[in-house]
Order: sequence, then structure tokens, then C-alpha cells
Amino acid sequence: MFYVGNRVACGVLLKRITHVVFAAALTAALNLWTIKGGALYTFIAIASSIAPDVDLGKYHRKLLHNIFAWMFLVVFLQITAPYLGLEGYYVFVSVTIGWLSHIFLDSLTKKGVALLYPFSRKFYGLRIFSGDNLAVNVLFIILSLLVLIRYAFTLITALISS
Ligand SMILES: [Zn+2]
Repeated sequence: MFYVGNRVACGVLLKRITHVVFAAALTAALNLWTIKGGALYTFIAIASSIAPDVDLGKYHRKLLHNIFAWMFLVVFLQITAPYLGLEGYYVFVSVTIGWLSHIFLDSLTKKGVALLYPFSRKFYGLRIFSGDNLAVNVLFIILSLLVLIRYAFTLITALISS
């Protein structure tokens, strides 16, 4: 029993790491770190990359794993961002990176995502891998880390030469 629970917990952790590292790599690829408040926007992107999984239970991969939840969220944040002292455009970019990269990765898994929920309950995606496929998760993590290391190296080089 403990073993099964432990395995499930490991699988969830692995998927969470994959979402976080993949979103972080996208923020690096889009050069988000160097803008004013870059650390905060990177944090928002990373938080957004794990936030859709709040819809666990009966509505998992439906309630928050669809484009309408993302649209609602970005519109809401566009309105509230100025009151929080944030740049609306970068809030949009960072939430979009996190949220849509999460939906993209989940859409590769066998379950797919209910992309058009609540208008359709159909699950979409390439649906190739099992979500807790160790090899695929590790591959995404390694590729993302390579992007992050390359970006960090570029930043350090620029810092040294300036
Ligand atoms: Zn998910």
C-alpha cells in the first residue's frame, strides 16, 4: 500500500517537475529574465505551469485544462495587473507560457485534455505517452535544462563582457 502510494506521489512530483522546468525553459527562450521584474514574471510563468492541476478529482483535465479558463484568467489579470503594479503585457505572456505549456504537455499524454470544456467534454491531444512515463518526462526535463543552462551561460557571458 505504501509502495503504491509512494509511486503515485513520485509520478505526480515527476510530472510537476516536468511542467515547471519546461515552462522555465520557455521563459528563457523568450528572454523573459532580463526585463524589468523578470524574476517575478518568471515566477508567475512557473506558478501558472502547475496551477491547472488544481482541478483534481471529478473535473480533472476539464475545468482548468481548457482554452476558456486560460482566456478568462488572462482577461481578469489584464484588468487587475495595473492595480498590482504589474505590466499587463508581461503578465499575459508569463501566464500564457505556464498555462498553455501545461495544457500542451498534458495533451501529449494518453488521457488528453478537454480543450473546449465546458462546451465540449471531448478530450483532445496527440495522446502518445502515459503521463508518468519516466523516459519521456526525463527527456523533457533534460532538454529544458539544456535550454536553461545555455541561457544562463549567455547571461553570465554578457555580464562578464560588459
Ligand atoms: Zn494537468
